[in-house]
Amino acid sequence: MKKNVLAVTKDLIKIPSSPNRPEAMQQVFDYAKDFFQADKNLFIKTYLRNGKSSLVVSTVDSLSPDVLMIGHLDVVDADLAMFEPKEENGKLIGRGACDMKSENAVMMCLMSELTESSNPPSVALMLTLDEETGGFDGVNYLVNEIGYRCKVALVPDGSSSPEEIILANKGVLHLRLSVIGVPAHGSAPWLGENAIDKLIQAYQKIRTVFPVGNDSDHWYDTCNLGTISGGKATNQVPDSASCTIDIRFTEKNSSSVILDLVRQTVPECLVETIVSGLPCSTPTNDPFVQLFSEVLKNKFNLSARYGRNCGGHDGRFLSALGVPVIVTRPISGDQHSEKEWVDIESLKNFVDIYREFINQVSKL
Ligand SMILES: [Zn+2]
Repeated sequence: MKKNVLAVTKDLIKIPSSPNRPEAMQQVFDYAKDFFQADKNLFIKTYLRNGKSSLVVSTVDSLSPDVLMIGHLDVVDADLAMFEPKEENGKLIGRGACDMKSENAVMMCLMSELTESSNPPSVALMLTLDEETGGFDGVNYLVNEIGYRCKVALVPDGSSSPEEIILANKGVLHLRLSVIGVPAHGSAPWLGENAIDKLIQAYQKIRTVFPVGNDSDHWYDTCNLGTISGGKATNQVPDSASCTIDIRFTEKNSSSVILDLVRQTVPECLVETIVSGLPCSTPTNDPFVQLFSEVLKNKFNLSARYGRNCGGHDGRFLSALGVPVIVTRPISGDQHSEKEWVDIESLKNFVDIYREFINQVSKL
């Protein structure tokens, strides 16, 4: 491999590509695009939707490579100090070290390497800029409007080690609930109808339909009250109030069922959808999951563990179409926190794991 994964990771971390820094978003996109300029036999396509750029590089001139690797170049915001990568005790620390500049570096270096072969496997890499803000103009657009498909998708955007394979992620539904009251002076509340009181009572009913479950990995539907607003003055009976709630649901449910449930529970509220995302689920007996597990065992002496994750990733757009999605990562942790890190040795090994899996798929 000519390109150095660790060096590329550091280059990517140094670009503070959070959604509030559009110049850095452009800069990271240009870095990724320029990275492949010298590679022959690589098909490079760029897309733009709602101001969000995406890049797809592929060894085949097709919308349907066998293997599709998916990464996002955006990160959640942090102090500028976190965009200066540091090495400490075998770890690389910085924003995106875990989620997911290091994994992007792995996939970019691997794509570049694969083009050196006279007969490369059928593989593409999709890099987008909007995963942290929903993925609708990135992977959603590329899959559901441009028409990208694959036999198997590799999405290194979850898990905390290569052998922990995440096969299910919860869906997400963000709702706004609004109620109207009748205004009055605060000294005569009996003359009005307090909108905040109504909203609190409504939310208490909603809590009862999302009870806390027993699963150790919290595999049940949850609801979080994220924001609440209403009222203008202490001495007024407020005439309106609203809140936003974040519902995460398992593959047993769907956003339309959840939405109906909420509306039936609180008919006094106007219920609006802000964000809706599908759950993601791949069966453990899927042949590609089994192949990935065999590669881990036979070549790297790692025993696969299958897990579920309450968060989401862009693989859900392919999972919804029945495509198996394999989510693993190098040994890493503390994503989105001030101490986000990746194990440097594991990062280098991760290239070997992906290379071996892709080679095995090409032999099928
Ligand atoms: Zn991520």
